[in-house]
Amino acid sequence: MRTYTCRKCGEQYEAAGLTDGLCEKCVMEHLDKYHQVREYLWTHPGSTASEVSTACDCSVRQVMQWVKEDRFMLTDGSKVLLYCANCGKKITSGVYCTACKAAIEKGEIEAARTARLTQRLNNMKGIAVGSHNTDEGSMRFLNNLNNPNNPNSKK
Ligand SMILES: [Zn+2]
Ligand SMILES: [Zn+2]
Repeated sequence: MRTYTCRKCGEQYEAAGLTDGLCEKCVMEHLDKYHQVREYLWTHPGSTASEVSTACDCSVRQVMQWVKEDRFMLTDGSKVLLYCANCGKKITSGVYCTACKAAIEKGEIEAARTARLTQRLNNMKGIAVGSHNTDEGSMRFLNNLNNPNNPNSKK
């Protein structure tokens, strides 16, 4: 057993092995909130993240976090949007679109990137190759979510 400080309420708690940084009480509250949000989305399909956050008294970031973790699917007509971190296509949950996810699992995307990079390097020798624009865009998006209120952000 090790002693941890709950990152939500600041109470000390003990845990054996992995912990997500919350004491038992806060974990239960967190789960309750998740169920509440899921219930709300079920009865109010097409709600925006801010509508959900107001109705369920939790942060937009938390709602978006759950969306990113694939806990919720965004409904058609929802104003909450996510973009594929590889190709920039609109997606409803997770980080990559279905096509990119499949390609990454097969290792095709890494290969395609390396080929593209090699080609570019050959075309302009001696010039530093910048990072891919789509990546930068999606990184900014991720960084926006990455603040102290986000339970998954690193201290
Ligand atoms: Zn706590
Ligand atoms: Zn994609």
